[in-house]
Amino acid sequence: MEIGGYMKIRTTKDSDQMIDDSIRLSIVVPCYNEEKVLSEFYQRLSKVCSDQVFLNEDYEIIFINDGSTDLTWEIIYKICKENKHVVGVNLSRNFGHQLALTAGLDVACGERIFIIDADLQDPPELLPEFMKLMDEGADVVYGKREHRVGETFFKKKSASIFYRLLNKMAKIDIPLDTGDFRLITKRVKDKLHSMPENQRFLRGMISWIGFNQVPLNYTRQPRFAGETKYPLSKMVAFSIDAITGFSVSPIRISVYFSLLFSIIAILLMIYVIFSWTVLNAVPGWASLGVILTLLGAGQFLVMAIIGEYISRIYIEAKRRPLYIIKEIIAMENKRTVK
Ligand code: UDP
Ligand code: MG
Repeated sequence: MEIGGYMKIRTTKDSDQMIDDSIRLSIVVPCYNEEKVLSEFYQRLSKVCSDQVFLNEDYEIIFINDGSTDLTWEIIYKICKENKHVVGVNLSRNFGHQLALTAGLDVACGERIFIIDADLQDPPELLPEFMKLMDEGADVVYGKREHRVGETFFKKKSASIFYRLLNKMAKIDIPLDTGDFRLITKRVKDKLHSMPENQRFLRGMISWIGFNQVPLNYTRQPRFAGETKYPLSKMVAFSIDAITGFSVSPIRISVYFSLLFSIIAILLMIYVIFSWTVLNAVPGWASLGVILTLLGAGQFLVMAIIGEYISRIYIEAKRRPLYIIKEIIAMENKRTVK
């Protein structure tokens, strides 16, 4: 299988023959500078996994180190060495949350894949509930945030406006107030793998895939430690990716603008002719200035929107790998990166 431009080859220990070593559950955890939370997260998650009889020890936990600058990789490395269920994926630099997740999904070989953040905002203890809904026939069980504890008013409000705006513009229904906290089946993961776009908004892409998707309501907890890796600038960039990735309606704004300005121009023309013939007035510089700047602003806005789409065409046209893996560590030597 092609992963981020590399070939992933799974071999048995004593022969080089390809084997189908799929397991019951893969847990994918993107980590960026999470040294303060990782040990606690790992303890809670592995307790959940080892307590579950249904898993029968048949699971893997994949930590993706997304170019952290703290001790995150060292911690992952240590955990890998002491627990055969753990796989460590070290990316060559910081690629961002969505691409780190993509890397984890590509490495995962479970029949089901559980996606969870490392910061304990989404409780790992909910895993059995996710599994139960999937046993009942769901292909995607997504965590829906009923309440969010410990997040700023601004973050909650902006997220809520964003999801509502996105749903108005996008042609698909992306469930409101959800994140990437979800359990998906292998077939959904395989479909994701066949969607090569660079600007990834995974929760939207998963909605787009369809099949049977059901929500699981939960309360989002405060971060256990450390701070959010999504400051305002990243949130804006992420929202632009989401909107341009799923909707072409912003580009249509130019049509509305041109209509609006045409109406204003016609009214102005009537006024100019009227004042020239009837009022005999000297036209004012001020009104001219206002009209010019207004038109200028409108044109810049439309060009900027078109530019956003063109830059995306440019990025996609390069067809670069989505991410680059530096190394994969796993006790059971199933994975080799070439
Ligand atoms: N993350 C990542 N790469 C990044 C930014 C974030 O892998 O460039 C990880 C981070 O370690 C965490 C998850 O993505 O596990 C979500 O990030 P965060 O909790 O900062 O986002 P928030 O919950 O505040 O939206
Ligand atoms: Mg978080």
